[in-house]
Amino acid sequence: MEVSPGTCVVVGGGPAGMIASLLLARAGVEVTVLEKHRDFLRDFRGDTVHASTLTLLDELGLGEQFARLPARYLVQAGVDLDAGHVEIADLRRLPGAHQHIALVPQWDFLELVAAACRAEPTHRLLMGAEVVDVLGSARGVHGVRYRHNGTEQELAADLVVACDGRTSAVRTSVGRRAREFGVPIDVLWFRLPRHDDDPIRGLGRLTRGAMVVLIDRGDYFQLGYLIKKGTDADLRAAGLEAFRDRLVEALPWLADRVEALDSMEDVKLLSVQISRLRRWWAPGLLFIGDAAHAMSPVGGVGINLAVQDAVAAARRIGPRLASRRLRTLDLAAVQARRWLPTAITQFGQRLAHRYIVGGGPLGRGRTESVPPALRLLQRFPRLRGVPAYAVAIGLLPEHAPAWGRRSETPEATSLGDRLAPDLRS
Ligand SMILES: Cc1cc2nc3c(=O)[nH]c(=O)nc-3n(C[C@H](O)[C@H](O)[C@H](O)COP(=O)(O)OP(=O)(O)OC[C@H]3O[C@@H](n4cnc5c(N)ncnc54)[C@H](O)[C@@H]3O)c2cc1C
Repeated sequence: MEVSPGTCVVVGGGPAGMIASLLLARAGVEVTVLEKHRDFLRDFRGDTVHASTLTLLDELGLGEQFARLPARYLVQAGVDLDAGHVEIADLRRLPGAHQHIALVPQWDFLELVAAACRAEPTHRLLMGAEVVDVLGSARGVHGVRYRHNGTEQELAADLVVACDGRTSAVRTSVGRRAREFGVPIDVLWFRLPRHDDDPIRGLGRLTRGAMVVLIDRGDYFQLGYLIKKGTDADLRAAGLEAFRDRLVEALPWLADRVEALDSMEDVKLLSVQISRLRRWWAPGLLFIGDAAHAMSPVGGVGINLAVQDAVAAARRIGPRLASRRLRTLDLAAVQARRWLPTAITQFGQRLAHRYIVGGGPLGRGRTESVPPALRLLQRFPRLRGVPAYAVAIGLLPEHAPAWGRRSETPEATSLGDRLAPDLRS
């Protein structure tokens, strides 16, 4: 007698959810992704697609399509200190086919993966569907309740994979609280026009009282201006002109364009968190990505970790779920595999925070001298391969299982074409 395949609900269509769902569908699982937004167009999710994710895209048969997206490539990373420019990471020293990080708006990356999902007959993507509760409890979950087009509906499944980010509704539904590691910084996020002859060599600027990260998005920069946690209200009270002055003080060449900020409404506060669940699973439920461990933007590694979690999870549970042989032990095994790379990466981010508000720009502000670790990297350029590896590949990179690999996939169509059938369902 033929056994019908296992079913899975993936909550959240971010990097973790889309990659996990693609692989689960390729394993033969009946998978439904519920994403609360109607599109992928949000600009605060980061733009980095790391070397290990690029390798994964090759394995998934999506490398050529990805290469056609409008992208910028980062091959070296440095920052401008008051003491001058320092190079930190040299990605040309990486092993493998990709010696760079691609900077691609995340919506393009997610749309590409969504197109590949559509080619899988057991995959369904439902946009504008917000999960509000789980069916069951922390002792056992067997589906979700979600709101779609103004009505609440239930969807039963053998497994719920919660990929709903750092404010995970699924986590709340089952009464799980993540352990918070205090974070002393927040980020102000906004755009300014970019010119081809801008005198920027690295990723940003560290000076006494300010740390600014600039992401090149073609005709504009996406800027992240770091502030001490809790100081946003004071900064806003001081007004737009004072904020423009602070920017120009840190980066004088921005003087000709800070007027493009019309009001402090253009400047969004993004609260930075580092947190981690003690247990990433319960019977019928698995947390991955930021839902299991919220990442700071430091190093731009959160997307990569979320993707690596997704691959590890799908590889372990895909075939078992497809043949309805999934055990709770398999869910625990996913956490066992991904816990250490996550914990070490978060520890590194916490050290970086400590520097930023301690001896660094938002603390004692010793930016006129180069910190000892960076001096070492200037003296021995080969060592720049170490931070390059840590960021662009990461600890324990994951690879697509043989059953999930493809040599080519159908061409991407427009997002409208891809979403219409799902939205009609
Ligand atoms: C300011 C800032 C900048 C960052 N920059 C970078 C960077 O440059 N590079 C990098 O690698 N990382 C960066 N990060 C970290 C990165 O954004 C996260 O680590 C990464 O997005 C996690 O992926 P995810 O799929 O787990 O979760 P998310 O990307 O958060 O995706 C969660 C998805 O779930 C959906 N969702 C949420 N709730 C529900 C619900 N109830 N029902 C249905 N759907 C739901 C959301 O709409 C979303 O699409 C940054 C973080 C911050 C705060």
